[in-house]
Amino acid sequence: MGIFMARTDAIVLGAGIVGVSVALHLAKRGLAVALLDRGDPGQGTSYGNAGIIEGNTLFPAKFPAGLGALLRIALKRAPEADYHVAFLARVAPWLLAFRRNSAPERLVDTMQAMRPLFSRAIGEHAALMAESDAERYLRRTGWLKLYRSDAGLAGTARERAIAAEIGIPLRVLDMEAARALEPSLAPVFRHAVFWEQAASVSNPLAVTRAYAARFKALGGVILRGDAMRLHQSAGRWRVETAEGPVDAEAAVVALGPWAPDLLEPLGIKLPLGIKRGYHRHFRPRGNAGLARPVLDAETGYCLAPMEQGIRLTTGAEFAARDAAPTPVQFARIMPAATGLFPLGDPVEERPWMGARPCFADSRPVIGRAPGQGGLWLAYGHGHLGLTLGPVTGRLIAEMMTGETPFCDPAPYRAERFG
Ligand SMILES: Cc1cc2nc3c(=O)[nH]c(=O)nc-3n(C[C@H](O)[C@H](O)[C@H](O)COP(=O)(O)OP(=O)(O)OC[C@H]3O[C@@H](n4cnc5c(N)ncnc54)[C@H](O)[C@@H]3O)c2cc1C
Repeated sequence: MGIFMARTDAIVLGAGIVGVSVALHLAKRGLAVALLDRGDPGQGTSYGNAGIIEGNTLFPAKFPAGLGALLRIALKRAPEADYHVAFLARVAPWLLAFRRNSAPERLVDTMQAMRPLFSRAIGEHAALMAESDAERYLRRTGWLKLYRSDAGLAGTARERAIAAEIGIPLRVLDMEAARALEPSLAPVFRHAVFWEQAASVSNPLAVTRAYAARFKALGGVILRGDAMRLHQSAGRWRVETAEGPVDAEAAVVALGPWAPDLLEPLGIKLPLGIKRGYHRHFRPRGNAGLARPVLDAETGYCLAPMEQGIRLTTGAEFAARDAAPTPVQFARIMPAATGLFPLGDPVEERPWMGARPCFADSRPVIGRAPGQGGLWLAYGHGHLGLTLGPVTGRLIAEMMTGETPFCDPAPYRAERFG
């Protein structure tokens, strides 16, 4: 077979939840789109998340407050975070920027900058699910955050006050009320906050695949190839693929944690950090189950019910993206997790590892690439890329096709890093 589609309107590089959503939104607007990945759609970071579509998110993950928490992490005793010593010097500037952005007033700034995206996140997923025959994966059952101490709950007071101000419903529950929602939880915590409008999915891979199938049904083409081979040719972007070369006026970089590999040689050096994370599935014992994801907030792990079993996900590990996995956090988490929920045998031999692509200001980059005509960026969605994939797809597709974007895209510009 010859080259069936040498010329397209846009090439989307990376078929995670972000790239697939971008490609689908462009195809819905009538563009001829090629979506390129070195593997099958949804097998990167988007494979292994906790499945939470967190439209309620107000404050982003923040730098640990207080010397005690920092020391626990430094001494490698913290369940919620870990690091590779050799990596610390390299990540220090990012950590300092992250700490600056964790100041109370900066958290409010971030909250305001991100609200337009988060407030539409569930609706945008629901719309894509409806047209992709993927509604069966969506659970509108909220998510439950547990606090083992009074201080833990008290620490959420400011966020709850803001939620009340802007009309995001939540319920503060005592242990009994939380166990009425989730009877399989053991009485080892004191309080819970039930964010009842959050949603979640039972299989993130299946959702990304369904959106990719919908993209194909609209005439989109999915190709296998190495995004690193993107180059300019006669004023257009071109990439070689297993099927031959494809070129287009526009290219969108949606490579998640791998975006810098392509962008830095093009002179686009944005300070992307990496927070690695792991998951492992466990079979529930007996007839135990969960109706929604549960966060053990002060211990720093999540239990998310998935088709494959109960998915236990870990917090942040500061280590080089490509360094060998070191899933030591499991040893610290397992006593708390098995004490909270009757986890049985693990489903896989060893944990899965992914790398959250994180900017220190907890905002993604969505928009034009500086200094490179026709190149667009959609990456850096950090802890919440599953949530933000479809809404990112809409925003960038609106910008690329000259529609009025549904929100001001200025907070997500690459130029904010100066
Ligand atoms: C443990 C954990 C739990 C999480 N929980 C949640 C959650 O509950 N809710 C939430 O919203 N988010 C969560 N996240 C974050 C979320 O998973 C990510 O933000 C999101 O998956 C990023 O999507 P992406 O499309 O940008 O990247 P990816 O899914 O990584 O996609 C990038 C794609 O680029 C491809 N690629 C890379 N290099 C090349 C190349 N050279 N050539 C061709 N293709 C290439 C890869 O194969 C991959 O398919 C979690 C993350 C982790 C690690």
